[in-house]
Amino acid sequence: MPLPAIVALALVLLGGAWAAACLLLSRRRPSLELPEEALTGPLPRLPDGFLLGAATAAHQLDGGDGLSDWSRFEEEPGRIARGERSGTATGHRERVAQDLRLLVELGANAYRLSLEWARLEPEEGRIDEAEWERARAEVALLRASGITPMVTLLHFTLPAWLAARGGLIAPDFAERFGVFAGEAARRLGREVALWGTINEPNVQIVSGYVEGRWPPGKRSPRQAGRAFAAALRGHAAAAHAVRAVVPLARVGPVLALVEFEPASRWSLLDWAAAGLAAAAFDWAFLDSIRTGRIRFPFPEAGLAREYAPELLGTADWIGVNYYTRQRLRFSLRTRTRVAQVPGPGAKSDLGWEIHPPSFLTMLREAWRRYRVPIFVTENGIADAADVHRPAYLRTHMQIVARALAEGIPVGGYFHWSLIDNFEWAEGFAPRFGLYAVDYATLERKPRGSVAVFREIASEIRGEGRGAA
Ligand code: BGC
Repeated sequence: MPLPAIVALALVLLGGAWAAACLLLSRRRPSLELPEEALTGPLPRLPDGFLLGAATAAHQLDGGDGLSDWSRFEEEPGRIARGERSGTATGHRERVAQDLRLLVELGANAYRLSLEWARLEPEEGRIDEAEWERARAEVALLRASGITPMVTLLHFTLPAWLAARGGLIAPDFAERFGVFAGEAARRLGREVALWGTINEPNVQIVSGYVEGRWPPGKRSPRQAGRAFAAALRGHAAAAHAVRAVVPLARVGPVLALVEFEPASRWSLLDWAAAGLAAAAFDWAFLDSIRTGRIRFPFPEAGLAREYAPELLGTADWIGVNYYTRQRLRFSLRTRTRVAQVPGPGAKSDLGWEIHPPSFLTMLREAWRRYRVPIFVTENGIADAADVHRPAYLRTHMQIVARALAEGIPVGGYFHWSLIDNFEWAEGFAPRFGLYAVDYATLERKPRGSVAVFREIASEIRGEGRGAA
């Protein structure tokens, strides 16, 4: 056979194999689409004891008073959009009772809040009794209002004294975090049964150690690998410490889950990009807990498999924070080897695509992989004008109902967020609140979505639509 014919034949064969592989991948991972009408109707009754509420985080409501890594990071020029700083943020510290009444107004029976380690232990080993008393009073108030608290021990912010020694990668991070968790359990364990250890370690590590947009502002895959291992060990230390004090506590890690899809279903490289992103971002942390082996499949992280048996059995539940999906293409230009391509759906004020079917895909996948109960610990949208939020709320709750109908044990749903708050490097502009905050007067005003939330609360309790 002449050379040109051989080359042509080889190309045809290669092309065929490529197409077949893409077809196979598409079959194995079809992109889930659900008809709009399937997601907009009234909700079925959900099991008694289903938790419906909202989520917040201490720093985002209160700011940090210079005690945490975040509040110091904000002082560095160019770190926060428009040069903003969290300051006293929403003024929540002076309005705790008032803000908690909003939960009752919503018809919520649960609230996810976080502790600010930096305030509770402002210097290494020095406990601030008055701060602990505030935390205790808050959970007591929740209980008295019929609201089940879920407490997150670490939501992105670290005490400045720990950050000065390396933060997550300080040699004694896990140990110090375990001590803090034990203290929290001793002081709040009578009122709190549900404990989240670390909120979204995957986001914290990518933003802080790969992209360098968050503290500690590094761009080092190697350090990201170390932070990943440290966060896992910290999670385990906290889980064991809480259980040692409150044997009936139910403890879990909280991850941001994003469905990564190939920008083109006909590109094997895009498939690889999406697969790598999912392995490293969505599943690596949870897989390590399941197997007791720390593994971070991130390019250049250079981390050997570490055996960490203390991780085994440390997830009584998994917290899923779901916001959006991402379409990825392979790129040599970025450090992570992936680049984002905008999807076709409507977008939030932050440009995040609204795509409820991916939420179902992620709930299914989390259940298939780990077989432990799931809490939707965050779900919400930056939508100042509240144009998309009413439908977003309803469609995502429909997904929860579907997941339950499929036998996936979803124990609750926490909307992000109760009120507008400080959105990290994006500052105050993104508005995630069911209630709007006027930052000039600190007044809270219900958005239209509050009525939708109330309707949902009555529907899932079997009280029918509009009974609220
Ligand atoms: C975080 C929140 C954040 C929200 C919206 C999650 O990544 O846990 O702190 O405000 O998403 O971006």
